[in-house]
Amino acid sequence: MDFRFTEEQIALYEGARAFGRAEVHPGVLERDKNCTFSREIWKKMGEHGLLGAPYPVEYGGTGLSAVETCLVSEGFAEGAEDGGTTLAWGASTILCGVPIWKLGSEEHKRRYLPAMSSGELIGGFCLSEPDSGSDAASMKTRAVKKGNKWILNGTKMWITNGPVGGVFVVTAVTDPTARPKAAGISTFLVESSFPGFKVGQHIEKMGMKTSLTSELVFEDCEVPEENLLGIENYGFIMSVKLILGWERSCLLAPGMGGMKATIDRTAKYLQERHQFGRPIAKFQALRHMLAQMKMDYELSRNLIYRVAWQLDRDGDPPLVDAAIAKLFLSETSQRCFRDAIQMHGGNGFTTEYHVERSLRDSMISTIGGGTSEVQRGIIARSILDLGF
Ligand SMILES: Cc1cc2nc3c(=O)[nH]c(=O)nc-3n(C[C@H](O)[C@H](O)[C@H](O)COP(=O)(O)OP(=O)(O)OC[C@H]3O[C@@H](n4cnc5c(N)ncnc54)[C@H](O)[C@@H]3O)c2cc1C
Repeated sequence: MDFRFTEEQIALYEGARAFGRAEVHPGVLERDKNCTFSREIWKKMGEHGLLGAPYPVEYGGTGLSAVETCLVSEGFAEGAEDGGTTLAWGASTILCGVPIWKLGSEEHKRRYLPAMSSGELIGGFCLSEPDSGSDAASMKTRAVKKGNKWILNGTKMWITNGPVGGVFVVTAVTDPTARPKAAGISTFLVESSFPGFKVGQHIEKMGMKTSLTSELVFEDCEVPEENLLGIENYGFIMSVKLILGWERSCLLAPGMGGMKATIDRTAKYLQERHQFGRPIAKFQALRHMLAQMKMDYELSRNLIYRVAWQLDRDGDPPLVDAAIAKLFLSETSQRCFRDAIQMHGGNGFTTEYHVERSLRDSMISTIGGGTSEVQRGIIARSILDLGF
């Protein structure tokens, strides 16, 4: 077993971190305050090779493995400390682009991936609805075949990049009689220019404010038949299974970058801030919190990179390993950010020290892409040998 990264892989991490620090971190306070998504930064991310990180070079991508995609997203997040921009990256590059790359036709890949890699086209993934979140297969959005088109009707909720996206991977019921329900759902590639596509209500959020979130409404939305992604009625099973491994490695890796930035920030503050005539780093109570942060960070890295490694090796990491990685990282990162605020005292409660934003941004991590309660259910079922 070799836990080391190669020199080239470390250079990828450091390059993404330097880019994030120089091009994205400046201005994050302002963008967070004004809830601004920056297209200028997005374009630069494309030039840096981040937006097409895992796709093959022939489709305009950077051709990185899952482990390397984790490294660049983690490094970027450490430098940028901008959770919203990183979430927008995940929704486009991972949740939308990976299904296109893995399940799409040659035509799909050529049409969408180069433009997504350059930053010209932004993607998104539409699974959740107003009445179905954890129980995603109970979705109501319906797709009916008419001639050479699919007609979509329904509303998708909480869509990251909804207001700015040009292409979306959209799930819809194609066989309402199927049991299990998941076996009657298909996946479609829907462009924002298709007739019947509408951006609904913009959603104001507690965190991730530099990414935009909205409802998307499909009213007799016309989708060409060739935009069915994968096999009819099996699109949901295929895309959700596929996304799971990528989401629980590459999309989560930025959380570790955020932890690293916060640990470094906090360590510096503890040495600079004096109380009772000495640096507050002298107080054991704070040292223990710092040690816990570091331990949680290192353990998260072991779990997440193991999932990424399994993804590269098998194309399909075990569901339970992925659930453990997601649950551990999301919950320990929230503790890390909360403790960082505590150690910064009153300054931690202000925006300018950058730690309160990290806590706000991280609150989605125990909800999005499967809540902590759902992950605990998966882990417990595996122990009890109940199957899924
Ligand atoms: C900022 C943001 C961005 C998002 N981006 C996207 C996106 O791009 N695309 C997309 O499709 N979705 C997106 N989502 C939606 C997200 O994936 C859902 O919010 C999430 O899956 C939870 O669904 P829900 O909100 O409907 O909660 P619910 O499913 O209603 O859950 C409510 C509570 O019930 C608990 N619960 C539910 N079922 C069980 C169970 N079986 N056992 C134990 N407890 C249970 C949950 O854990 C939770 O505590 C986003 C959400 C947010 C907030």
